[in-house]
Amino acid sequence: LFVSFEGIDGSGKSTQARLLAEALRAEGRDVLLTREPGGSPGAEEIRALVLQGDPDRWSAETELLLFTAARRDHLERTIRPALAEGRVVICDRFADSSRMYQGRDGRRAQVDALHDLMIGIEPDVTLLIDMDPEAGLSRAKARATAEERFEDFGLPLQQAMRAGFLALSREFPARFRVIEGNRAMDTVAADVRAALEPVL
Ligand code: C5P
Repeated sequence: LFVSFEGIDGSGKSTQARLLAEALRAEGRDVLLTREPGGSPGAEEIRALVLQGDPDRWSAETELLLFTAARRDHLERTIRPALAEGRVVICDRFADSSRMYQGRDGRRAQVDALHDLMIGIEPDVTLLIDMDPEAGLSRAKARATAEERFEDFGLPLQQAMRAGFLALSREFPARFRVIEGNRAMDTVAADVRAALEPVL
C-alpha cells in the first residue's frame, strides 16, 4: 500500500505521516516512512542541491528536472522495493507536490509529461492535510532553518497553494482524502487513521 501526505508548508503533514507510521507499526504492520525531495541517498543529495544555497541557482525547468530525477531515484531505490516486499509505504510529499510547486506559472503540463515518462505511479491514497494558510505560514516560518530554503510565498500565494491542493483533490477524487488540519494533533491523527480503514 502506497500512501502520500500532501499540504502547504506548515500544514502538519510531516507530523501526521510520522504519527500514522507509529500507529500502524503498533498494529504490527511493516511500515516504511519516507519523504520527498529525498528518501534515497541519491535523492537526498539532489534535495541539498535544490533546497540549499542560492535559490536562483536553477531555472524553473532545471528545478523540475532535478525534482523528477530525485523522485525517480527514490522510486527505484526505496519505494518500489518496499512495495514489492508488501510493506506499507508512507511518503511525506510525492508527485502532487510537483504538480503544485514545479507546476506553478503554467508549468503543470511539463510536470505531467515528465511524470508520465519517468514516474508513472500514483499513491493508492493521498491524504491532503488542509490547513488555514495564515496558521501554516506562521508555523513554517517559526521552524525555518538557516540551512534549507524555506519558500516564503507570502499569504496570498499560500492561499493560492491551499486552493490548488484542494483543486487537485477534486481532480483525483478516487485517491484523495481531505483531512481538516486546523485541529488538535491527535484528533487529526485519528481522522487520518480512519481514512485508511477501507484500504487496510
Ligand atoms: O516538505 P518539506 O518541508 O521538506 O519541503 C521543503 C521545501 O521544498 C518546501 O519549501 C517546499 O515548498 C519545497 N518543495 C518544492 N517542490 C516539491 C517538494 C517540496 O518546491 N516537489
